[in-house]
Parts: sequence; C-alpha cells; structure tokens
Amino acid sequence: MEHLQNCVDGRLVAPVAGRYIENFDPSTGRCYSMVPDSDESDLERAIAAAEAAFPPWSATPVEERARLLDDIAIRIEAKLDELARAETVDNGKPLSLARAVDIPRASSNFRFFAHASTQFASESHNMGARAINYTLRDPVGVVACISPWNLPLYLFSWKIAPALAVGNCVVAKPSEVTPMTAYLLAKIGIDAGLPPGVLNVLQGRGPKIGAALTAHPKVKAISFTGGTRTGAEIARIAAPQFKKLSLEMGGKNPTVVFADCDYPRALDTVLRSAFTNQGQICLSGSRILIERPLYQRLRDDLVNRTKTLKVGDPLDDDTQQGAVVSANHRDKILSYIQIAREEGGTILTGGDSVLVPGRCKDGYFVEPTVIEGLAQTCRTNQEEIFGPVVTLQAFDSEDQALELANATDYGLAASIWSQDVRRCHRVAQRLESGVVWINTWLLRDLRTPFGGMKNSGVGREGGLEALRFFTEPKNVCIDLAD
Ligand code: NAD
Repeated sequence: MEHLQNCVDGRLVAPVAGRYIENFDPSTGRCYSMVPDSDESDLERAIAAAEAAFPPWSATPVEERARLLDDIAIRIEAKLDELARAETVDNGKPLSLARAVDIPRASSNFRFFAHASTQFASESHNMGARAINYTLRDPVGVVACISPWNLPLYLFSWKIAPALAVGNCVVAKPSEVTPMTAYLLAKIGIDAGLPPGVLNVLQGRGPKIGAALTAHPKVKAISFTGGTRTGAEIARIAAPQFKKLSLEMGGKNPTVVFADCDYPRALDTVLRSAFTNQGQICLSGSRILIERPLYQRLRDDLVNRTKTLKVGDPLDDDTQQGAVVSANHRDKILSYIQIAREEGGTILTGGDSVLVPGRCKDGYFVEPTVIEGLAQTCRTNQEEIFGPVVTLQAFDSEDQALELANATDYGLAASIWSQDVRRCHRVAQRLESGVVWINTWLLRDLRTPFGGMKNSGVGREGGLEALRFFTEPKNVCIDLAD
C-alpha cells in the first residue's frame, strides 16, 4: 500500500516518528493509502527549512517567482488526468467534475497569482511640499495554509499560490481526509525547481499537526478554510500571538427565487447549486426560498429533476452524484435528515443512503434530498449539513425573503433569481452575505474579493485581497519641508 510522504526542505520524507493514518477511497470504503501522522518533530524541521529559505526567496525578483509559479500551473495542466483521478479516488467526487473544475482551477490559481504578483503595487500619499508617504508591502515570513477536504487541490492551491507569489515561505497542511493531491503537488513543486524550504507540506490530523502549526510562534500568518468551529479554535490560539488571520468557514446559503425569474435557467442552476459535489461546497445553495406564486411549480420540477440525478461510481462518465467524503460524514448527513423528520419536515425525495452495486457496494453514497415544511428557526435550516440536502420555503414579499435569507449565523454566499434588475440590486445590498450571485451561481472571477460575513469568515481571499493579506504594509514618511 502506498505510503504518502511529507515535503520538507525540498525533499519528500517520511514522518519522523514513523506513524501513519489510514486513507480511504469513499467510493469503495476501502483503505488505499497511508498518510503521515505528522507531529511537532516534523513541524520543527519544516519551520526551520521555511525560515532558512525566506531571505533568498523574498529577495528573488518577482518575475522569477512568477515564472516558477507559472511553470507549476503548466505542470498541473499536463497532469490533468492523473490529478483528476487521484482527486476522485480520494474524495469521491465524479471524475467529470474533478476534470472540469477542481484540477483546471488549481492550475488557474497558480497562473492567476503568478501574473497578479507582477502587477501588484503599493500606494503613495503625497502631502505636497510638506512630505510624501509611500507604503512598502513586504512578505510576512513563514505562513501556514490549512485547507479542507471538499475541494482539495482547488483550495490548497488557492492559498499557497498567493503566499508564494509575494515572497512568503509556506508550511501547508491539507485535510487528512483528502491528502493525495497535496502530496502530488509537493512533487510538482520539486520538479518545477521551487527552492528547498519554500513550500513544505505536512500531512496529518487537524487537532495534532494542524493545531501545532497554528500555535507555532514562527508562523506569522494563517490562512484557513474549513469549519466554523475549527476556525474559532484557530482564532483562540492565534489571536493572543497577534498572528495575521484569514478564516474562510461554513455557510448556510440562501437561493432566493422570485416568480419573475428566467425559469428554465433558474431551475437548472438551482439544481446545480444544490447538489454539485454532493452538496459539499461551502457556496452550495442549501436553503431555497421561493416566491409563493412559483412555489408549487419549482418544487415539483426540482423534485422530478433531483430524482433523475444519477448516483453512482464516481469513475463512470454518466455519474452526476458521487460518494460523500467519509463514513462519518455520511452518518452526519443522514442524522440531519433524521433531525429534519423529527422537526416535522416532509422529505419530498431522497432521505436515505444508496447502495451502488459492484465495485462501490461498500461506498458512502447518499440520495440527493429535498425537504419542505420546516420553519427557518429549526436546526435543519440553521446548521450547515454540507451534503446533498436542501430545504424549500415559500415567501410572500421581498422583505420576507430577506428576513428568511438573513436569519442564520452564517453569511457566506447567496443567489438571487429575478429579471427585475432594480429588485436584484436592492436585495443584494441588504443580504448579509460576502458573495452574491444574480441569475447565476459559482461564476468566479479570481480578481474579486471572496469570503464570508458573520460566522462564515474573517478577511477576504481573492485577487489583491490575498496579496494584501500575505504582505505587511509599512508606511514610510519623508519630510520634504525646507
Ligand atoms: P475542518 O474544519 O474539519 O478541517 C479543515 C482543516 O483544518 C483540515 O485540514 C483539518 O485537518 C484542519 N484542522 C482541524 N482541526 C484543527 C485545529 N484544531 N487546528 C488547526 N487545524 C485544524 O473542515 P472540513 O470538514 O475539512 O471542511 C468542511 C468545512 O469547510 C465546511 O464547514 C465548509 O463550509 C468549509 N469550507 C469553507 C469554504 C470557504 O471558502 N468559506 C470553502 C470550503 C469549505
């Protein structure tokens, strides 16, 4: 069985203590590789390597850093088939999705930040004859990048690329549930000629190596994507040390559908936003709010379309719903469906696990599920399920739609469906949400600020926001007076 390795100081190495944890293929339920169970000894080596690499890397001309990152983008593209398959086996998502979205986006992340860093400039503030201020933006130093399992390489690279582009050295920790493509990326970085110590990848458990990395005094900034509870724990440890923090966390995102929407397009996209990646996207539209005159029609069509989604072997071309990421996660999703029943919800379709015969008979599959009849205050409508489960609620006015949409502790993403541009803008302004889509979903421009309000996040990623996060501004004031 393959034993994955850490990447420390430009080399692939076994964990110092020699301990490993099992890594499962969620589509078969079988352990297929072993992941380093890294600890403080691995961390000390990675931090020492990153610290030693920082002076030369931060002094490397930006064009050269950008060239290396661009080269990584090209290498990811060239390995599309291998990486997509690895992502699918590790995560359970349909291979078609990994090929079309996850891996191309990982490549785009490197390309985008390679180019963005060459255009990154800082401000000057002119005080006329009295003085001039100019602001330097230097890299922070050694930074931590911690990512989740739902979009493994996509989110891992979304953090690492901007950090490296502006001259930081990185100690990165992917999710222990989906370690494979981070391991493959470490190899790509070595092949591309990243100087030793610039990118270190430590595999292992969140509460062990993740917590140690967060607490390490040499780590000056932490970019984290994951659950809100984990984000709170990281903030608790990091804040007293005054580390820079960017936290991208959970969501319970509303999809607000008005009766005057462009219906066929709305139906297609509402379905996609509900169930893509088995609903395991922080941006998934899991609460579908429908203006009452459209409620019955959209409800019936959505249920019928949901019933046709093919749940199956993620490696099959025609599979639309793959496996959910782990047995634990499947059980969590099913327990939420049970809670919905106890809360008085009606399961319109789905509601159970799925047996996929043959190779995948022991895999973790859940039926895409649509529920109605639940108040906004109940747990099913308040807590993030992060699976193929959506609820439907009717509303009678714009105000009521907004009240429902904003009535959770989360504030990550929302989408609005209406052909009335004034209304769309009014609603967008009043939504408590860091990302709003109008008549679309998941359309991303990497230059835009990305992140959540309320319990969904602190800070923003994307474009210049990420480059600003990974640099420390220093204002220099020159007195020009005679
Ligand atoms: P998680 O919080 O369990 O884990 C995320 C990462 O943090 C993993 O690498 C994990 O090992 C690590 N970790 C766990 N405990 C830690 C600790 N004490 N200290 C340091 N690191 C620790 O999240 P998950 O289950 O992997 O991912 C699902 C969650 O991620 C969902 O809540 C989802 O909404 C969220 N998410 C948010 C975004 C976003 O951009 N806002 C994107 C994707 C996923």
